[in-house]
Amino acid sequence: MNDTWNPWHGCKKFSAGCLNCYVYRRDAQFDKDSSRVVKNKTFYLPAERYKYGTYKMSPESGVIYTCFTSDFFIEDADEWRGECWQMIKQRPDMTFFIITKRIYRFEECIPKDWGSGYDNVHICCTCENQQETDRRLPIFISAPIKKKSIICEPLLEHIDLSKYLIPEISRVVVGGESGENARPCHYDWVLSLREQCRAAGTHFSFKQTGAVFIKDGRKYIIPRKMQHAQAKKAGIDLK
Ligand code: SF4
Repeated sequence: MNDTWNPWHGCKKFSAGCLNCYVYRRDAQFDKDSSRVVKNKTFYLPAERYKYGTYKMSPESGVIYTCFTSDFFIEDADEWRGECWQMIKQRPDMTFFIITKRIYRFEECIPKDWGSGYDNVHICCTCENQQETDRRLPIFISAPIKKKSIICEPLLEHIDLSKYLIPEISRVVVGGESGENARPCHYDWVLSLREQCRAAGTHFSFKQTGAVFIKDGRKYIIPRKMQHAQAKKAGIDLK
């Protein structure tokens, strides 16, 4: 069952975490220009129904991963986003999981009837380093959003998140960088974030090691297919 909805494709790099963006890496294999944002044929997918009335997009998990080959709040999609909000509102049976680096655009991108937030929208703000953390999280924690998480991926340095771990933040997810030119992820940085989450009582998940992982001063090159498994093997998630 399809659980991913990409209403448009393409994005523009604008911060350190974007350097080796997976959308660009994947498109490069097909000589595709990732910086051109185009509406996808699947734009109306969450609203589409079969002849007998049920929705075509109804994953058992109840979660629709939204806009994973772009950024939902990118300027280029301003014309299209309104229709997306309508479809999201039409589907209270699903939670729309949206990851963004452009939280600074949030207030200007929400629909008029947003109020204190739609119940079925979970927004994750990405922070890859301390500078972006201190830029994005003050906006994020005060934004009217009912479900919030923080994603530190690709984790590029030690980050102090502690002052932003308010009870409304349901989870912190951490991961390294993948791909040929991946920058290293240090296990110490991961453990520090875990400790900050433990102290704040926030759920913590170590999602993947990335391709270059530093532990106890040793560098490990981890193949793509092992990166999630190795992180899980560490057994450091906090439920
Ligand atoms: S915001 Fe996300 S999708 Fe856009 S270029 Fe950066 S990493 Fe890629």
